[in-house]
Amino acid sequence: MINFDYDNRVAVVTGGSSGIGLATVRVLLRSGARVALCARNEGRLNDVLSVLQRDFGNDKVFAKSLSVLEPEEVSSFAKDVENRFGQCDLLVNNAGQGRVSTFADTMDDDWRAEYELKLFSQIYPIRAFQPMLKQANGAIVAVNSLLAYQPEPHMVCTSSARAGVQNLLKSLSIELAPDIRVNSVLLGLVESGQWTRRFAEREDQNQSRSEWYGILAKQKGIPLARLGDPVEAANAIAFLGSTSASYITGAQLEVSGGLSRHI
Ligand code: NDP
Repeated sequence: MINFDYDNRVAVVTGGSSGIGLATVRVLLRSGARVALCARNEGRLNDVLSVLQRDFGNDKVFAKSLSVLEPEEVSSFAKDVENRFGQCDLLVNNAGQGRVSTFADTMDDDWRAEYELKLFSQIYPIRAFQPMLKQANGAIVAVNSLLAYQPEPHMVCTSSARAGVQNLLKSLSIELAPDIRVNSVLLGLVESGQWTRRFAEREDQNQSRSEWYGILAKQKGIPLARLGDPVEAANAIAFLGSTSASYITGAQLEVSGGLSRHI
C-alpha cells in the first residue's frame, strides 16, 4: 500500500461512496488527510461514513448527500467543508457514470443529459471550491476516461463529452495557474460499480465473475490482461493531488493497463 503526504491537508471527493471515489477517500485518509465526500444516495453514503469513521476517526471525515449537478447544493457543501475543516487542498471530481449508446439510439435529451453530467460535474465543484483551493495553493484531479481520446462507437455520446472535459481542463490548468494545479486521470476499465452493474445484467447468467471479467479483458485487448482495481486508480489520483506532483499541471495520467493505442 502506498502512502502519500497528506498530513494537515483536506481533500474533497465527489462520488466518494462507491468504487474509485471510495477507494480514493480511503487512500487519502490513510495518507493523513481529512476528507469530505458527497454522493446522492443518502443511505449508502451514511453506511460508508459509519465505516470510515470507525476506521479513521469521527473528526477525519465528513459526508453530505447531494448531486453535483445542483449548483446551490454544491456551494453549500463547500461552505460546510470550510466550516468543518477550514480549508480545501484537493478537489477530486469523480462523480458520474458512462453512457452506453450508439449514435442511432442516443436521443437529443440523452445528449443534453450526458453533456450536462460530464461538464457541470466539473464546473460546479470547481467554481465552489476555487477560493479555498487558491488559498491553499491546491490541486484539482478530474477522473475521466480514455474514451476522450479513443472513442468507442457504442459509447459515442460519453466519448465526445469526455473529450470536451479534457479540453476544459487544459484551459483551466492555464487560467487557474499558478495557484491551482489541474490534472486528470484517464481510465480504461476499472472494476467498480459500473462494471458490477453490467456483470449483474450479463447475457449468460451462468458465467462466473472471474470468467466474465477475463473474457471482457480479452475482448477489449487490454495488454495487462485484466481490469484495474479501484485502488490502482486511487493511487494515481492521490499522486497527482499530492506535493510529489508539485510541478505537474495540465497533464493526464492513463490508468488503463496499456489499453491506449495512441503514442
Ligand atoms: P461507481 O458507480 O462505483 O461510483 C460512482 C459514484 O458517483 C457513486 O458514489 C455515486 O453515488 C456518485 N455519483 C454519481 N452521480 C452523481 C451526482 N450527480 N452527484 C453526486 N454523486 C454522484 O462508479 P466508478 O467508481 O466506476 O466511477 C467513478 C468515475 O470514474 C465516474 O465518473 C466514471 O464515469 C469514471 N470512469 C469509470 C470507469 C470504470 O471502468 N470504472 C472508466 C472510465 C471512467 P450516487 O449514485 O449515490 O450519487
